[in-house]
Amino acid sequence: MPLADDCVFCRILKGEIPCTKIYEDDMVLAFLDIAPFNPGHTVIVPKEHQHSSTAIDPEYLKAIITVAPKIGAALMRATGAEGFNIFQNNGRVAGQTVPHVHFHVLPRFADDDVQITASTKKYGDFAEMNALADKVKAVLNK
Ligand code: 5GP
Ligand code: ZN
Repeated sequence: MPLADDCVFCRILKGEIPCTKIYEDDMVLAFLDIAPFNPGHTVIVPKEHQHSSTAIDPEYLKAIITVAPKIGAALMRATGAEGFNIFQNNGRVAGQTVPHVHFHVLPRFADDDVQITASTKKYGDFAEMNALADKVKAVLNK
């Protein structure tokens, strides 16, 4: 899919908007997030416009997930972070604000006030869990 005119990450890929590049290869570009949760917060984007990770060529996903831990390790060494999160938002309800597939790599520090938490929910029983798993498996196996 060609790069889009109205997509901020496509515009970065085209060089129309500057970015602070961390890494680049044939498939992906990684750069510092402009509104970081922590210093070093990086986004990795495929070099084609795709709004959803369910539709993108899996080769791009492979390229991204291969480089993501390497970038995480580099961020740890460069910033002194003690760990990192890799995460990816799909759809507005999941927190996606830029409709171009991207993975976040977020260096983590002790007491950094980043909160990725939720109160856990409960299934009624194993039968309910099995019924849900069967439903998902049926879709996956279609
Ligand atoms: P999302 O919420 O869609 O998962 O993440 C999009 C991310 O892109 C946000 O963390 C946001 O700060 C970042 N972002 C949006 N516009 C720009 C930009 O122009 N430059 C950079 N470097 N990051 C951006
Ligand atoms: Zn795009």
